[in-house]
Amino acid sequence: MFIIDYIYVGIDDTDSPDGMCTTYLCMDLIKKLKKEGYIIEGYPRLIRLNPFARYKTRGNGGVSFKFPKKQFESKDLKKAKDIILDEVTKLSMFECNNTNPGVVFYDGKITKEMEDFAYKALHAIITIEEAEEFADRIGAEIYKFKKGRGIIGSLATISCKLTDCTYELLTYRIPDNRGLKRKIDYDSVYLMDKKTDTFENVDGKYIAIEPKTPCPVLYGIRANDPDSLLEAKEIVKVYEEIEDYCIFLTNQHTDMHLEPADNIKSMKKYNSYIVTGIVKDKPHPIEGGHFFFTLEDSTGVIECAAYEPTKSFRKIVHKLRFGDKIKVYGGIGEEGTFNIEKFQVLSLNNIEYKNPKCPNCGKTLSSAGKNKGFKCKNCSYKSNDLSKVPYKIQRDLILFKFYETPVMARRHLAKPLCRMDLDMI
Ligand code: ATP
Repeated sequence: MFIIDYIYVGIDDTDSPDGMCTTYLCMDLIKKLKKEGYIIEGYPRLIRLNPFARYKTRGNGGVSFKFPKKQFESKDLKKAKDIILDEVTKLSMFECNNTNPGVVFYDGKITKEMEDFAYKALHAIITIEEAEEFADRIGAEIYKFKKGRGIIGSLATISCKLTDCTYELLTYRIPDNRGLKRKIDYDSVYLMDKKTDTFENVDGKYIAIEPKTPCPVLYGIRANDPDSLLEAKEIVKVYEEIEDYCIFLTNQHTDMHLEPADNIKSMKKYNSYIVTGIVKDKPHPIEGGHFFFTLEDSTGVIECAAYEPTKSFRKIVHKLRFGDKIKVYGGIGEEGTFNIEKFQVLSLNNIEYKNPKCPNCGKTLSSAGKNKGFKCKNCSYKSNDLSKVPYKIQRDLILFKFYETPVMARRHLAKPLCRMDLDMI
């Protein structure tokens, strides 16, 4: 079999909340490299890593792309690397304390050890030193700017094995317009949403394709295939100049950050899981509009949270009650609570208990005091029997159905129900 060798490039941590976007840098860079005659194969990758990584700016994403190696028999590899490093130097938001770019060049095959590193970057926390040692071991060339934390994401982005993927088309604004209100025709976004095989475009009145930050992205559309994205771009109307656009191959909406947990006790902070348990108490609101409840299994308990930004999802969570068995998808953040992304109802506790009726007069009995049975206020009948009468209640939740957070509160990595083969579950 004919195998092509590649030189991989990974870039991460170039942007800040005040501006820039590593995807823009990647798009601009690829344009420059192609202009110089370099060949880049396939779509660049945008890989989202652990959502609980402490120093992320927004969605913890890194970018990578690959050069077929053969071209460097006649083309200058050093020059290509210089173009890349120069672009990172020019476009990174160095003034931000939390921006610590890292660039990685890797000449070789993607090994199992590298895939494991990327897995770790999705499920745990990696230190800069650990990433440096790893790069050394696999023979990757690293460039650290400031603290160089970006090498963690750069190595992981190159190494990540994609067993499932989606695509995102990002359009970019010209420099003069960045920071100003975006001029997108919202009606055309609704039309695009209806007419194309794309997802997560709108959420009621909320236009999800439009970023809410001053970054260079005008809009981003997501789909299972690149053709649908091009079709969508033709439909969306904007009233400002688009500098350029780029399609990225991504792990967004794949649930790649989730690990099946053996049980509640085995779950660790800063990782994301799928876990089955029984609801121990009625979900209740706490200050700030968040809803909390306890999930238990035979090994322990964990506090589950539907936070305020999940809006209408909290109402669904509130419908859970003691004894319901659910499969929960989510992650454990800094506070140690399990942030719910979606859940499936496995069984519903539809039994409620009421006081028995008086055998003499038929009125409902009242409690005679703790562990003292019942008494009838009407005819003074007394009973030492403590048993209540079970009866069935109507539940609003549907057995085996999945419930997910709304688009506006969804993680980049969370697989929406529209991508899940629900018949197979
Ligand atoms: P944006 O989505 O706007 O591009 P971001 O949210 O991706 O920004 P970055 O600026 O890329 O944020 O910063 C994330 C930082 O966290 C990077 O330095 C990256 O290398 C690092 N990082 C990624 N995954 C992990 C991890 N598992 N453990 C520790 N650090 C990580």
